[in-house]
Amino acid sequence: MRRYTNSFQHLRTTRRSRYCMKIAFIGLGNMGGGMAANLVKAGHEVNAFDLSQEALDRAKATGCATFGSARAAVEGVDAVVSMLPNGAIVRDVYTSDIIGHAPTGAILIDCSTIDVATARHVAQAAAEAGYSMVDAPVSGGIAAAEGGTLTFMVGGTETAFNDAETVLKSMGKAVIYAGDAGNGQAAKICNNMLLAIHMIGTAEAFTMAQKLGLDPQIFYDISSVSSGQNWSMTSYCPVPGVGPKSPSDNDYKGGFATALMLKDLRLAMAAAEEADAAVPIGSRAASLYEDFAGAGNGGLDFSAIIRTYGLRG
Ligand code: NAD
Repeated sequence: MRRYTNSFQHLRTTRRSRYCMKIAFIGLGNMGGGMAANLVKAGHEVNAFDLSQEALDRAKATGCATFGSARAAVEGVDAVVSMLPNGAIVRDVYTSDIIGHAPTGAILIDCSTIDVATARHVAQAAAEAGYSMVDAPVSGGIAAAEGGTLTFMVGGTETAFNDAETVLKSMGKAVIYAGDAGNGQAAKICNNMLLAIHMIGTAEAFTMAQKLGLDPQIFYDISSVSSGQNWSMTSYCPVPGVGPKSPSDNDYKGGFATALMLKDLRLAMAAAEEADAAVPIGSRAASLYEDFAGAGNGGLDFSAIIRTYGLRG
């Protein structure tokens, strides 16, 4: 019995992965371009739309069909995926061009990082018009989008999650259900607020250790196996030449831009205020990143904040 069940499940998985869907992809920028290409590679038919002709040309080169409007792209599709800059644009695109224009059977998947309130508002508007929708923001940057190794955190009904999962699996390594609509965005901003806090803490600790006479490598050898250990230290060390290769070894180029970290921290601060959550350390991290980005460092990887502490090279 057990063997039968296992082989049946295997068959279902194999069949599902071969199932070709027609998917509209709206927003083919740094992230969306690679994600749409991975949907094509997985055997799906992808209808692409972006305001930028350059983005559309790149999408065409990776096998997408290109369209002159979001409305035209969503006609007759099984799913819509969006990867857009902010909440105002997401709200506008969904309410003007997707809801009421895509078939109601299509699953709507917004992968942009936006505020929780807008994600819930758009999901509600979609539900009222008879659609299933999820917010599915990602962890992972441009390389993960291109390599198909993103992590998706998904908010919506369980049925919507199940429908979205097949599509998301073609673009990522992990698809995690977070609960109701908006919870994907909530997970994303809470995670990134924590990331900012431990990156700043790690930068402070390494600089102070050096000023107290400790070699950064020796401090790493001790702290990475002690209670101060954290991801910013052992996977993404802000000190050049210490820990695994990271943007600090490339003059803080590439990686996760300070401007994007600041965007997520602003969303986190707005959500904290709305939810009446106390975030004294998160708000300090947000203001430190405001200052760092404001000083012209928005394009540098977010670990470059260690430069403000005066670590000697
Ligand atoms: P991007 O600016 O490179 O791409 C956004 C694309 O959306 C652009 O090509 C733009 O022309 C298009 N666009 C804007 N308005 C549009 C509209 N009304 N209709 C159709 N297309 C429109 O941004 P990105 O780096 O790809 O980021 C997209 C989203 O992913 C953002 O919400 C960002 O916060 C999130 N994100 C980015 C990263 C990253 O490392 N870049 C990592 C995680 C999450």
